[in-house]
Amino acid sequence: MENKLKTIDHTPVAHRASTLFQVSLLQSLANGDYCGSVTIGQLQQHGDTGLGTFHRLNGELIMLDGITYRAAGDGSIEVVSDDETTPFSAVTFLHADETSTLQEVSDYDALLQALNQRVAARGINRFYMIRLDGLFGQMHTRSVYAQDEPYARLTEVLMREQTFFDDENIEGTVVGLYCPPYMSSLNATGWHMHFISKDKTKGGHVLGLRISDAVLSWDDINSFALHLPQNEKFHQFDLTIDQSKDIALIETNHEN
Ligand SMILES: [Zn+2]
Repeated sequence: MENKLKTIDHTPVAHRASTLFQVSLLQSLANGDYCGSVTIGQLQQHGDTGLGTFHRLNGELIMLDGITYRAAGDGSIEVVSDDETTPFSAVTFLHADETSTLQEVSDYDALLQALNQRVAARGINRFYMIRLDGLFGQMHTRSVYAQDEPYARLTEVLMREQTFFDDENIEGTVVGLYCPPYMSSLNATGWHMHFISKDKTKGGHVLGLRISDAVLSWDDINSFALHLPQNEKFHQFDLTIDQSKDIALIETNHEN
């Protein structure tokens, strides 16, 4: 008995594996809560890889190798300072549990199919963070410009003024997050991906792509931490209302 006890691992469970750290709910962002509640400096203490957006919805957030980038509404990229804030984001310290290669993936749906086969094999009810480093035959992204108060709902903002970018044969990295089906009231379920080019000049929220050749790094995530905004406005949103249609529009708003 004594020997058995000695082999028990008393490390806090959250420290044994990757933890997904999420700031606020996508459903709150969808309601127009673009008020940043966590600084980028704080966010970087909870991860080195992830995605989200900034205070006032000022562009798409891509965290890669511990650096936080903004893909702005005009398509430009900049490194974001530690004292800017985020109203919604999800990050983790990426430790690849598995790497593999993906070649000649014809479009976004084909990529989802390839990823979901892996999800089915590894388990649909946990989180996954991935990065895809390689050459993309096509990359179709979007971003948004900073908003002014009073904030409109996210679907209205996107319908009115999201900007689209198309590139061909571009090297770079896609950061992707998978949320399990039971996350439907806290985030988007399934996959959500952001892209940044290797030369850090282009990027955004991925709406479409074609992969020529890429390395897929895959991180199993078994813990989840949710940080709620510390402001009055957050408590004025009725988050019991089903927003699944809005969330679907926000994630997959194709032009065509
Ligand atoms: Zn996005």
